[in-house]
Amino acid sequence: MNGRECDVLVIGLGPGGGSAAAAAAAAGLRVLAIDRKREIGVPVQCAEFIPLPLSRHAMAPGVLAQRISGMTSVLPSGTAVDTPFSGLMVDRAAFDRALAGSAEAAGAVVEAATSLVGLDDDAGAARLRGPAGESVLHYRVLIAADGPHSTVARLLGLAPLQTVNTRQYTVPLLQPFADTDIWLSPDYPGGYAWLFPKGDRANLGLGMDPRASADMKTPIDRLHRQLVAEGRTGADILARTGGAIPVGGLRDVLVSGRVLFVGDAAGLTHPVTGAGISAAVASGEAAAAAAHAWIGGDPAALAVYAEDMTDQFGESLQRAVVRRAELARLRSTGAVAEDAPHRRSWIAFDEYYRPALTA
Ligand SMILES: Cc1cc2nc3c(=O)[nH]c(=O)nc-3n(C[C@H](O)[C@H](O)[C@H](O)COP(=O)(O)OP(=O)(O)OC[C@H]3O[C@@H](n4cnc5c(N)ncnc54)[C@H](O)[C@@H]3O)c2cc1C
Repeated sequence: MNGRECDVLVIGLGPGGGSAAAAAAAAGLRVLAIDRKREIGVPVQCAEFIPLPLSRHAMAPGVLAQRISGMTSVLPSGTAVDTPFSGLMVDRAAFDRALAGSAEAAGAVVEAATSLVGLDDDAGAARLRGPAGESVLHYRVLIAADGPHSTVARLLGLAPLQTVNTRQYTVPLLQPFADTDIWLSPDYPGGYAWLFPKGDRANLGLGMDPRASADMKTPIDRLHRQLVAEGRTGADILARTGGAIPVGGLRDVLVSGRVLFVGDAAGLTHPVTGAGISAAVASGEAAAAAAHAWIGGDPAALAVYAEDMTDQFGESLQRAVVRRAELARLRSTGAVAEDAPHRRSWIAFDEYYRPALTA
């Protein structure tokens, strides 16, 4: 790093920012990556499931918790349907720390407890606030990996993303198992409830559209009591978390000036499942490659990044947006208590992948 200049400034060190910083530094760029958290990855706001293709990022000590092989989807009638579902449960804080560690090992400068507070993208200048006070940093490309409520987007005057809220308890797991349980119900409008096992504990959570209901405590407590009564989990709540999940699909603007949006900040999170780690890592690595090509003299590289993300994720995200909207339209009718619309709105069922009923 030459004084307060860098090639690539990465805002946020979740999976998107960590992978972007690691890939950009490995490509030989001068990288500064910051996160406002005092400790990278903490607090965890995640059910901690990653799909198998990300297992290369679960090799660092302390990251891998257990394997997952199936999913049980429980419909409003109580019918439970088992489907294969392969992946890994990880310690998400260790996962994020390992990515940031890879970035540092590749030569990136990583600063925790440092926030982006101002931006002049025309001048390529960012105002950062860290433990030593405020400073201005000049960059050539900025990668916005700053999550669902992106500060970068706000500073650029871009619209906020539509999100759902979540609430999650970590509870003792009395009968360890290797499947994830999903509950689909009109009690969780615009979302669903989940139980992800992690050895002798589990992440029990739910997501809901805040416009439909602000009370998430009553339904999660009810589900927790049910699981305690069934002897599946203990009554203790070992940890509480939550957070926002983007559900509106891709951000309209993925590239603005020399700013590239990745991960949740780009709206890449799946609007039905809420899964976003995989897309965050993929987009982070793609953004780093685009930054490298652009700095290397390819004037189209940043625009190509936006096209690539749209090609790769646009259709699947759009299908999920449409399925959420279809279910939301039924909310005012009795049909939302039936199984059929939930089968159509959940990824485990064939109906989800069929063409839309309406134009
Ligand atoms: C309860 C819950 C459960 C989830 N479970 C799963 C799951 O099991 N599997 C899955 O794939 N996905 C899950 N997700 C979604 C997943 O966590 C996100 O998609 C993923 O974290 C996106 O990564 P990211 O790097 O884009 O953003 P984030 O992980 O949100 O990282 C953004 C980072 O930017 C930092 N930041 C923000 N503003 C600033 C600023 N101004 N200056 C400096 N730093 C800043 C933040 O501190 C944060 O560390 C879940 C989400 C929630 C809320």
